Amino acid sequence: MSNPSSAIESILVENRIFEPDDRAREGARISGMDAYQALCDEADKDFEGFWAKRAREHLIWTKPFTKTLDESNAPFYQWFSDGELNASANCLDKHMGTPVESKTAIIFEADGGEVTKITYKELLARVSQFANALKAKGIGKGDRVLIYMPMTIEGVVAMQACARIGATHSVVFGGFSSKAVQERIQDAGAVAVVTANFQLRGGKELPLKSIVDEGIAMGGCESVKTVFVYERTPSAWNRVAGRDVSFTEALTGQSTECAPVPVNAEHPLFVLYTSGSTGKPKGVQHATGGYLLWAKQTMEWTFDIRPEDVFWCTADIGWITGHTYVAYGPLAAGATQVVFEGVPTYPNAGRFWQMIERHKVTIFYTAPTAIRSLIKAAESDEAVHPKQSDLSSLRILGTVREPINPEAWMWYYRNVGGERCPIVDTFWQTETGGHVITPVPGATPLVPGSCTLPLPGIKAAIVDETGKELPNGSGGMLVIQRPWPSMIRTIWGDPDRFKKSYFPEELGGRTYLAGDGAVRDARTGYFRITGRIDDVLNVSGHRLGTMEIESALVAKTDLVAEAAVVGRPDDVTGEAICAFVVLKRGRPDGDEAKAIAKELRDWVG
Ligand code: AMP
Repeated sequence: MSNPSSAIESILVENRIFEPDDRAREGARISGMDAYQALCDEADKDFEGFWAKRAREHLIWTKPFTKTLDESNAPFYQWFSDGELNASANCLDKHMGTPVESKTAIIFEADGGEVTKITYKELLARVSQFANALKAKGIGKGDRVLIYMPMTIEGVVAMQACARIGATHSVVFGGFSSKAVQERIQDAGAVAVVTANFQLRGGKELPLKSIVDEGIAMGGCESVKTVFVYERTPSAWNRVAGRDVSFTEALTGQSTECAPVPVNAEHPLFVLYTSGSTGKPKGVQHATGGYLLWAKQTMEWTFDIRPEDVFWCTADIGWITGHTYVAYGPLAAGATQVVFEGVPTYPNAGRFWQMIERHKVTIFYTAPTAIRSLIKAAESDEAVHPKQSDLSSLRILGTVREPINPEAWMWYYRNVGGERCPIVDTFWQTETGGHVITPVPGATPLVPGSCTLPLPGIKAAIVDETGKELPNGSGGMLVIQRPWPSMIRTIWGDPDRFKKSYFPEELGGRTYLAGDGAVRDARTGYFRITGRIDDVLNVSGHRLGTMEIESALVAKTDLVAEAAVVGRPDDVTGEAICAFVVLKRGRPDGDEAKAIAKELRDWVG
């Protein structure tokens, strides 16, 4: 993508503006920039009233809140804090007795291509049954449950079941190591783990249960009393007596009804770990009420979700995108969504496009890295080009997790969206809970490579190190100057680190520091994210702390004396990891150097 013609295209398209056409505007919830501006003005005029109205409109409260925002202990902001609700009831029960009850909630496509569909009513029964299985093991409100699952209906069920009984889940991405599992169990004090014997990706069986076993065996995980094992494949797994239980055993005899447990709006719905600039991952804690409001609201604002839509977010439930736009948002909105177990390149790199055709997907949401790698594949093999599939069902495209380069944006716009689908380039983070800066499809004129403007109620700005706001055209630090309902509440067990990381004293202690650099366009005021300003790399949209990688390298004590890690630009993954290593012995060369480099790469992996 670094050839001269694409560089020229990049300059040309950066100056192009794509206005939403009549199709995008017609029937849209926010239709036209005047409507967008009116919402921003409404939020400015009566900020708390704006959110209170929406929290009442979007959520069912078992105990209505009377206080919208409590700033008395800032930056530990609280939202709707005297109200009570249940997240699972707001995603499932609320649809019962409505036409959504018999609608397909999830179209699951397995790695091998088998398709399973589940209605909202069936999903509620499954979630309730698993919630009862959790309760039968003594798990309840306030307990933490670690979820280490493949992308499956059962993964979503596990999350919803925790929410149903007021247990706080912590999902760990299925690609993470036993060490990551151990650290997260320890930090969260998890009482149970929900996992699968294997996961299927790209035609391969990859172990999950044995990784959990290894993690627990590393020590300090005595809090775990039960490990639930979903038998994804018929393959055998090692059972630890008295601790492990298969899904089938756990569900036998359990009722398919389970009353949702009302929790306070501030009750931690989940803790999700993410990389920070120091060694230890941060447990980002989200609250039930504000988070769920945001998940539902952004399904409407950003995706303009409609009853007939088929929504597909390709993110894994191990990431925040898979929380907000797989496990919660689409269900709260009563949408039909696709959940995909596999990888975009198996059995061939046309899989995404073929699945869009197969399931008549209308809204497709993926990451720039996936788009860039599929461009490469399509350019070298016509057979996997999106033009081989009928993509006419699509009406909105989205991207997330990394800056999208204008060439990739244009390719996506032309070849996938047929030049008729707006692309919502959504900027957000684990900490923001949901989209904060993004185009609104029926309103915002699009500029390739720009996440455009903040959502109504989000006061985003660019400041220097003293907190002074910078004029458009100057690059600086991205901040959000007013709290919003789905913001991070704290770092699990480490409130000091929370304050220092996100609300530093230098910025006055009340301004949220995103950790990204950004610039606003001099002409349009649009935001463009320029990348992290801390020691965090963004490799294929995965946040990796340089210190975490350095620590892994020096932990190879037989070989490594010192290590330093930096990022370098990469055409496909956005950024790549570059490590400088001083060995304990002399400097090798030739094949020996290559072999050591490989050994270290595997070790870090
Ligand atoms: P995570 O919390 O893992 O989702 O990572 C959040 C980080 O991903 C942000 O701080 C940004 O660096 C990056 N990011 C997410 N969305 C975008 C976007 N639309 N454009 C540019 N960078 C993004």
